Amino acid sequence: MYYWSITSNSQNLLNPYLHTMKSIDISVNELPGIVQGECIQQSTEPNTFIKQLVIDSRKLMAPAGAVFFAIDGKHHDGHAHITEMYKKGVRIFIVEKSISLNEIPQAACIRVKSSVSALQACAAYRRKQLDIPIVAITGSNAKTIVKEWLSQTVAADYSVVKSPRSYNSQIGVPLSVWALNERHTIGIFEAGISTTKEMQALQKVIEPTIGIFTNIGSAHDKGFKNREEKIQEKLKLFADCKVVIYCSDHEEIHAEITAQHLPTFNWSLQSSATIEYSIAAKDSFQTQIEVKTKEHQGFFYLPFVDDASIENALHVATTLFYLGYSIQEVSRKISGLQAVGMRLELKEANNDCYLIDDSYNNDLAGLSIALDFLEHVKQSEVKTVILSDVLESGLDSAVLYKEVASYLTTAQVQRVIAIGSQITELKKWYNGRAEYYPTTEAFIKDLTKTVFEKEIVLVKGARIFQFEKIVSRLQHKVHETVLEINLDALIHNLNVYRSKLKPDTKIMCMVKAFSYGSGGFEIAQLLQYHGVDYLAVAYADEGARLRENGITLPIMVMNPTLSSFDTILRYELEPEIYEPVLLKQIIEYAQAKQKHIGIHIKIDTGMKRLGFEKKDVTEIAQQLKHTEFVKVYSVFTHLAASDSAEHDAFTAHQLNLFDEVISLFQTTLNYSFIKHAANSSGIMRFKEAHYDMVRLGIGLYGVESAGLYQNELQAISVFKTHISQIKEITTEESVGYSRKGRVTKPSKIATIAVGYADGYNRRFGNGIGEVLVNGVRCPIIGNVCMDMSMVDVTDAHAAQGDEVILFGHNPTVSDLAKRIGTIPYEILTSVGARVKRIFYSE
Ligand SMILES: *Cc1c(COP(=O)(O)O)cnc(C)c1O
Repeated sequence: MYYWSITSNSQNLLNPYLHTMKSIDISVNELPGIVQGECIQQSTEPNTFIKQLVIDSRKLMAPAGAVFFAIDGKHHDGHAHITEMYKKGVRIFIVEKSISLNEIPQAACIRVKSSVSALQACAAYRRKQLDIPIVAITGSNAKTIVKEWLSQTVAADYSVVKSPRSYNSQIGVPLSVWALNERHTIGIFEAGISTTKEMQALQKVIEPTIGIFTNIGSAHDKGFKNREEKIQEKLKLFADCKVVIYCSDHEEIHAEITAQHLPTFNWSLQSSATIEYSIAAKDSFQTQIEVKTKEHQGFFYLPFVDDASIENALHVATTLFYLGYSIQEVSRKISGLQAVGMRLELKEANNDCYLIDDSYNNDLAGLSIALDFLEHVKQSEVKTVILSDVLESGLDSAVLYKEVASYLTTAQVQRVIAIGSQITELKKWYNGRAEYYPTTEAFIKDLTKTVFEKEIVLVKGARIFQFEKIVSRLQHKVHETVLEINLDALIHNLNVYRSKLKPDTKIMCMVKAFSYGSGGFEIAQLLQYHGVDYLAVAYADEGARLRENGITLPIMVMNPTLSSFDTILRYELEPEIYEPVLLKQIIEYAQAKQKHIGIHIKIDTGMKRLGFEKKDVTEIAQQLKHTEFVKVYSVFTHLAASDSAEHDAFTAHQLNLFDEVISLFQTTLNYSFIKHAANSSGIMRFKEAHYDMVRLGIGLYGVESAGLYQNELQAISVFKTHISQIKEITTEESVGYSRKGRVTKPSKIATIAVGYADGYNRRFGNGIGEVLVNGVRCPIIGNVCMDMSMVDVTDAHAAQGDEVILFGHNPTVSDLAKRIGTIPYEILTSVGARVKRIFYSE
């Protein structure tokens, strides 16, 4: 779950035009009426105007005029942050639970039934003041890309406000709409729902005049009785639209829209519609479209060839026709569409730097999100931001750059590199370290003199600044085989497991073996940020690395040795103790150092791996009772077969034995300790094994090892490489070592840049493994080599440089594991250290 906040800038005394415009601002004394709440404490300054809606205490940009909405969420209670927000200067609070007003004596406080509804009411109020076209986009897929493309194509003629990234939820939508101000001439927002009754709320906030329905697929099917109900629910967004734009080739959508008699402006590639398109020609990189409208006929080119991009671009083209553009204008705008990278990526860069590549757009909301991501991943203490002119703000430059300066200051950026002609305004407002360049070229020319070292660099620029040139200069380019990690999916998975637990059950996340191959402290950082209780690693050194990178959570070390005790003490790690000699050593060590050490007692209840036996327990409990410096933080055991029903009797036996051991400790030790037993599959299959804490491993990384709830989890990693070269071979020739690869017809063979040294198992050779090239599964041919492999790409439209998916959504890690008779754990943890990890957030 993510929390956002968006600043609105309409009220600012520095804005010289303001007095000539109708104000759409809300003052504190109007607020109770707007959110239908009860004012339980009056403001001392009732005429203050509201500037920022904040729902996450970490996202406060400037306290003046900020309203904090305390939301009692599933995993996070905003009410816990009220005092902290007050201390930071916030003076307006919306709450949904009773709170102590003593803590916030000077603040206005309004009690509502639901803080989320109150947030929506504020945005809806603002929306109502403006009479401009508002586009709302919904559908199962492609909402964000259609929104971005539509914004790109109309930006020259309109002052656009749009949802940042994919802010389309019950919270994301009001925060997006709140950014509207008097100077905007069009709003483009996306709306997403996961269950019934949600869309009505979003409709009230957006009140769109133009609706776009992209398509319908299986996403969130679970929240609805059937497809029809899902379409009906989505259409509620368009209840008061002047027009609904959609593709009538989607029969289910077409049928429902027709049945509801909504005003339409539709398009089709197959039959009659308001705008009729047909594919006139296609080559390897563009598609020629013939278009027929009521009045005109003509052609235009799309710079794409895949079906999904064609559909998305045609939604945009149709909307442009609706807005009154001519075929020539549409043609010019559409031919300039670019594939958009809509995610924030963290990449390794030269000189021990990390890069966050967000060189795609630059508006205020996007900047605030990117700065937050910077904080969130925190790979280095030194934060640098390379920033272009901020476009599309609809703001006066003094107001704008004052705001940018406050963002940069709040985010504690140490170094700013500002590029562009307008951003020089920042000099007046920002007094941190900053360098100014007129153009991207000027900066690149100077790059040899500029040193970046051990920094985390956020590269954030508007499209026209072409900051990708900067990114490619700073980035590592050694080995283009990468493992991409979707941080949102990881958190999604964490929350799936959380939903299976009682609210007070703690979670220990297993980040051993480089977080099952997906990255070390990057993953730990994120888990810490999302409030897990404990981390566990295999070795003390792994724990030390986490501490050095800012992890403050308690960390259990599963394989401690006498020689690692110094590290354990120095970094405040907590060893697992599993046998009598080790226990004696740690007690003596703590005694000698006169330092307290917390330990975890591992009990072997049947795994026959590490652990004390039940017969040892009376004695060690006595021993522990009489030590001064060593304290038992937890007692735990590990289940040997929690994933398989056939061994359930054995699991029950393990748990019984564990219960007996726990009571032995309880009667001897006169203090309490945490009890835990369940791993990922144990969480899913044995509620009675949750105890006080669970130990979550593989499930976080997207594999449901019990095999019951796989659909609820998301794959977190994609292992990918590219084609280095393509060859055509005849049936007489052979491929690779020992001439193992043979073909039965003339074939196209691609060499890909991954081998067993990267963790691509040699057993995938000779057709056992398959990879995905341009959506087509292609078999490995011949033996896998150390750094390379060969693939039969005869059936894929493959070219040199094309991307090759080794695992991800298709094939999945589990598919690969089955092929070579192993388990997903081995596939995940084998991905080699030289494979670059890229972390991103949608
Ligand atoms: C690795 C490990 C886990 C996590 O197991 P998963 O099956 O990955 O959830 C739990 N407990 C211990 C002791 C472990 O070593």
